[in-house]
Amino acid sequence: MTRVELVDPVVFSDRTCRDVPQNTFFPPGKRTREIEKAKSYCRVCPRLVQCAEWAQPLAASGALAGCVVAAVYLPGPHKGQAGRDAAVAELAEIVAYGRMSEADVEGAA
Ligand code: SF4
Repeated sequence: MTRVELVDPVVFSDRTCRDVPQNTFFPPGKRTREIEKAKSYCRVCPRLVQCAEWAQPLAASGALAGCVVAAVYLPGPHKGQAGRDAAVAELAEIVAYGRMSEADVEGAA
């Protein structure tokens, strides 16, 4: 069995959130405007797919919650398992779509 090492995106110097205050990604009171602002940084981040891949197991276990990661709001415990599952599914879509996009680009070259 191959073990995949997931890299914490904090190591990437080209990540869009590098110079953005960290609290931007922990929107107080789950306000839509703040959540969308945080997501806007992620949507243009060159590390979006890697970040989503890294975040999936952490979101699934509840270790990462109440924040925006990889353009997905990860709800706190108040949303329960269903909320967590939905966020993890969104992250999985980003990973799958990102991989497909990379394959499409390579195929078109
Ligand atoms: S996807 Fe978002 S949280 Fe992840 S490294 Fe990029 S800007 Fe930061």
